[in-house]
Amino acid sequence: MKVLVAEQCGFCPGVRNAITLAHDTLARCKVVYCLGPIIHNEDVVRELADKGLKTVDRIDEIETGTVLIRSHGATREQLERIRARGLEVVDATCVLVKRVQKIARSLFEEGYKVVIIGDANHPEVKAVVGYAEDVAVIGAESDIDKLFGHKKLGVICQTTQSPDHFAEMVGRIIRRGFSELKVVNTLCRETIQRQSAAVKLCKQVDVMFVLGGLHSANTCKLAELCREHNPATFHLQNWEELDTNILLGRRIAGVTAGASTPDSVIDAFVQRLRAFDSPPQAGATPA
Ligand code: SF4
Repeated sequence: MKVLVAEQCGFCPGVRNAITLAHDTLARCKVVYCLGPIIHNEDVVRELADKGLKTVDRIDEIETGTVLIRSHGATREQLERIRARGLEVVDATCVLVKRVQKIARSLFEEGYKVVIIGDANHPEVKAVVGYAEDVAVIGAESDIDKLFGHKKLGVICQTTQSPDHFAEMVGRIIRRGFSELKVVNTLCRETIQRQSAAVKLCKQVDVMFVLGGLHSANTCKLAELCREHNPATFHLQNWEELDTNILLGRRIAGVTAGASTPDSVIDAFVQRLRAFDSPPQAGATPA
């Protein structure tokens, strides 16, 4: 089968840095914890667990050792609690996520009601919320109702949202007539490039595969965008999840991957897909 791979896909610099820091810390320290899965990829989490990285959900579960902060970051309160327990912190928060946290804080200090367009349950958003007081998270248009009574809004965005979604939500907020709006573009350029490359590619292929964790926000977004342009889009974690019946009668496949998908998963998938001899669909006339 002919396989085209998106120009930009796979590990982003933030994720690469977090994984490198995890390996370095494991080589240096006896006991290393990570607050939440280091990235949304089960294979990588398992590999690091085998090397000794302990993933916990709550700080109370940590008694001694070093705590790795993943690329999504942690709230200020979590960092204070970790330090108060005398634990060493290795901060792998992505620089772009740190930027969002700083912007949230300065908007709050300038007197703006901080508004973040994103998913309230995503760890990055939860961490940003902790950098200002009374932050409003806008996931859908109905959430804009929460903003009534506020005049000065400081609007930012979860790094992995799409530019179209950010623009649409800002437009909806403007139409509600708030008197002062300060909008700071906090989207991640790496994510935007991956989204554009995926959309460009999915329009050229018979079937599109988006590889990555099912809980990875940026991978889900890639799949959602591709599906808008090519309904034959499938979000899988690896080759083992592929039902090869999907390939029946298709000639060209496209592959992209989320920012937390390792090269090894992408390479293995592409190799096996290239080697796959797709039989024609029943009733199809040979070209
Ligand atoms: S997707 Fe962007 S913001 Fe998120 S970790 Fe990667 S580089 Fe950082």
